[in-house]
Amino acid sequence: MRYAIFGDIHANLEAFEAVLEHANSLGCQEFVCLGDIVGYNANPSECLEKVRELGCPVVRGNHDDDSSKLKTGGNTNPVAKAAQEWTFNKLTEEQRAWLQSLRYVRQVDNFTIVHASLDHPQQWHYVTNKFDAIASIAYQFTQLCFVGHSHVPQIYVRGESVEQHDRLDIIMEEGKKYLVNIGSVGQPRDGDWRASYCVYDTETGQIAIQRIEYDIATAQEKIIAEGLPQSLAARLAEGA
Ligand code: ZN
Repeated sequence: MRYAIFGDIHANLEAFEAVLEHANSLGCQEFVCLGDIVGYNANPSECLEKVRELGCPVVRGNHDDDSSKLKTGGNTNPVAKAAQEWTFNKLTEEQRAWLQSLRYVRQVDNFTIVHASLDHPQQWHYVTNKFDAIASIAYQFTQLCFVGHSHVPQIYVRGESVEQHDRLDIIMEEGKKYLVNIGSVGQPRDGDWRASYCVYDTETGQIAIQRIEYDIATAQEKIIAEGLPQSLAARLAEGA
C-alpha cells in the first residue's frame, strides 16, 4: 500500500491540488491528513471539502481548533488572529462542527498520526529537534509516527539513541522507531516555497518527503483580494 500523508494545508487550495495530483501520479492509493486544513490562506472551506471528499483519516490541528470556535484573548500573534477570525466567518456551522469532532491522535494501518506531538497532543508542542523527538517517541507505540505543525520536514530515528536523519528519503530498518515530520502543504517554513508532503510505501518501508511546485501567484492574489494580511502572501514565496 502506498500512502500520501499531508497536513498543514492552511487553506492553500493551489498547493493542495498540486499535491493530490502528484500523489495520484505516484500511484498513492490511500490518503492521510495531519490537520491544520484551515488558517492563513484564502480557501478554508474548499480545502476542508476536498479533504472530506477523500474520506481519509484526519486528526485535528491547532488552527482547525481555533478557527472553528471564536476565542477571545490568548497569545496568538495579530496576523494569525486576523486570519483566524476571517476563517471562522468563512466556514459554515456544519464545517466548524466537523472540525471540532476531529480526534487528536489516531492509528492508521501500522502507524500513528498526530498534528503536533504525542506528548500532550492538545498542547501543540513543536517537534523541531531531537529533544522534542525524544519526548514524543516516549509515547509512540508503533514503529512509525507522522507529525506536522512545525512546517519543516524532518525525520528522526530511534536506534541506540534518537538522532535526526540526514536524509528525507529513507528505508525503515527493523528494530528502529521513526518519527517523521512531513512539512507543510500550504505554508512551508524551511526556506523552500514548494509544497511538502510524504509518501510512505508499506511494502518497501520507504518514506520519502516530496516537494511540489504549485501556482503560488494565484494563491497570493486570493489572499490580497480577500483582504487577509499581505504578509501572508509574501511569506509563501519565501517559504517562511
Ligand atoms: Zn500549521
